Amino acid sequence: MNRLAINGGTKVRTKKFPKYNSIGQNEINAVTEVMRNGTLSKFIGAWCEDFYGGEKVQEFEKLWSEKFDAKHTISVNSNSSGIVAALGACGIGLGDEVIVSPYSMSISATAPLVYNATPVFCDLNTDNYGFDLKHLKSLISENTKAIIVVHIFGIPSDMDEILKIAKEHNLYVIEDCAQAPLAIYKGKKVGTLGDIGIFSLNYHKHIHTGEGGMCTTNNDKLANKLQLIRNHAESVVEAKGESDLVNMLGFNFRITEIQAAIGIEQLKKLDDEVKIRQKYAKMYDEALRKYPFIKVNNLQDRQSAHYIQVFEFDPKLAGISREQFIKAVHAELEPVEGREKEGVPIYGGYVKPVYLLPIFQQKQVYNKQNFCFKDTISYQKGICPNVEKLYTETIWEHDLTRSPLREEDIKDVILAYTKVCDNINELKK
Ligand SMILES: *Cc1c(COP(=O)(O)O)cnc(C)c1O
Repeated sequence: MNRLAINGGTKVRTKKFPKYNSIGQNEINAVTEVMRNGTLSKFIGAWCEDFYGGEKVQEFEKLWSEKFDAKHTISVNSNSSGIVAALGACGIGLGDEVIVSPYSMSISATAPLVYNATPVFCDLNTDNYGFDLKHLKSLISENTKAIIVVHIFGIPSDMDEILKIAKEHNLYVIEDCAQAPLAIYKGKKVGTLGDIGIFSLNYHKHIHTGEGGMCTTNNDKLANKLQLIRNHAESVVEAKGESDLVNMLGFNFRITEIQAAIGIEQLKKLDDEVKIRQKYAKMYDEALRKYPFIKVNNLQDRQSAHYIQVFEFDPKLAGISREQFIKAVHAELEPVEGREKEGVPIYGGYVKPVYLLPIFQQKQVYNKQNFCFKDTISYQKGICPNVEKLYTETIWEHDLTRSPLREEDIKDVILAYTKVCDNINELKK
């Protein structure tokens, strides 16, 4: 075979991958209709008919509930806002501890700080990258009030076990489903397995409205609180006749009619988007499974939505580092059209463990007293060894499973991976 491109051989592929853009004529028409009509948002932050938003917002929420088998959906302006609202709805406050993941967008771990509560980091397992259950149990104290589960990369966490632990200790379970729309756990969609599920509609997610988020719940009380927190709770509760004022300090987390109109069209594309990712992910798994230094996921009882696809690289078995491997694969391929600056979208490590960020290392959030941090809760390097190893040594990820990539594009990526794997000795010199 041809020498590796990094050593001067011919590249596997010399053309860019097709531009990512899921916005088509239907979205343009839907936005135009709202623009012509002129009512770009109908929300009013007072107890009246328009407290729940306009026609498009309510239609989008109804369609989302149907798609995700949820009793209620509350749209919000981001997944981040949704996580904050969810903790608020669960009554989280000063002194409470919330168990969080260190390997996610920072908000999935920092949201408790908004309510002066304490994030407690739990390590992940390396089968499905959900919580390490033994570590999770060891972290529960009399102050623990909630667990924020992240179905990271689109892979459902061990929900049966987590829900059992939560029930024993009377804890709320919030599911961060930003990366996992239509991911299936034991036959059920994620998002209503726990108390509240939160999805993201930001530009990078499976479907998007520019920015946006959706909260799903089967609990009437929590749905009501989410609606209040989204829309100026404090000025609504009196007229609405609410007596429970816990966390009834509201925000403006509302979306516009324009976003909802886009969302209605995007939602129609979600099934196909998830299916194509699952099909392509399987092609990669089958091609890479044979290499002893690569671990592909082996999920029997659940189906990932593949926000990104992850693999683990064993530097000891391979005889080279993950970074050397990725660099060699990069050399065989080209970037995505319109995203040239990002290079070939294959990366190592995912994100830095959240507890290593300055906010936790220096235990500083608010200006004067930092009520949120406790002497008993550590944020030192080493508290989540599995995640630290994934970050520094083993995990690698790509998003080359998505539309509009075609099968021939996937075959090129597979060729690049297998070429590097088959000629790995060339990299050892
Ligand atoms: C994208 C993402 C978020 C944040 O979503 P926004 O809608 O951008 O606020 C949170 N958690 C995870 C796991 C994500 O991937």
